[in-house]
Amino acid sequence: MKDFLAAVGAAVTLVAQPTPRVVDPGGPNKAPSDAVVLFDGKDVSAWTKKDGSPAGCIARDGEMHCTTGAGDIMSKMQFKDVQLHLEFFPPLMADQKGQLRGNSGVYLHGKYEIQILDSFNNPTYATGIAGALYGQAPPLVNAARPPEQWQSYDIVFHGPQCMADGKLAAQGTVTVLWNGVLVQDHTPILDSAKACADNKGKDTGPLLLQDHSGFKGAPNTTMRFRNIWIRELK
Ligand code: MG
Repeated sequence: MKDFLAAVGAAVTLVAQPTPRVVDPGGPNKAPSDAVVLFDGKDVSAWTKKDGSPAGCIARDGEMHCTTGAGDIMSKMQFKDVQLHLEFFPPLMADQKGQLRGNSGVYLHGKYEIQILDSFNNPTYATGIAGALYGQAPPLVNAARPPEQWQSYDIVFHGPQCMADGKLAAQGTVTVLWNGVLVQDHTPILDSAKACADNKGKDTGPLLLQDHSGFKGAPNTTMRFRNIWIRELK
């Protein structure tokens, strides 16, 4: 009898749920059908520099090439919570070490950096290797491929929840798969309260890709990107 009631209860629950909408999942080089494509291989029109002037990165052969001096680029789109996919191709810079190898970064809300660095046989501090929430949380493992190979990030980001008066309602969190391997697992964003205070309650922001050239001694670098898309989580 108990099992029967449990089964009936489960059936009622199943009936009561709305039917999920259909999404074509896409595949290699094709975004899911409900994604916003931020770089499709053809142009960088979804991006600007931080001051709003045209982006310094260029589209070439289906890739985005960001060379030292191009400046950080920022998505025109602002978002709160997202699923993000991005592929990057660190250059071979065998004469460099640590942070001076191919270095960029994916800044969620323009603030929280998921580090991009050639981290293959390249020791540096733990919160500065690829897959780190920079300065805060090392990746769970180092899933680097050698330089001059495409690598991927799949990120689920929930921004800090801010109240209208700028107080924090809930910390942001980030989950990151690096080349398909889990490296951040619902990691809290410790700067969340500050972000709410600074933004006076605004809880959206852009995606930003770092030009590392502003850092002392940084050598000339070209970081390549492709297949950048996001799905807003509502
Ligand atoms: Mg960086």
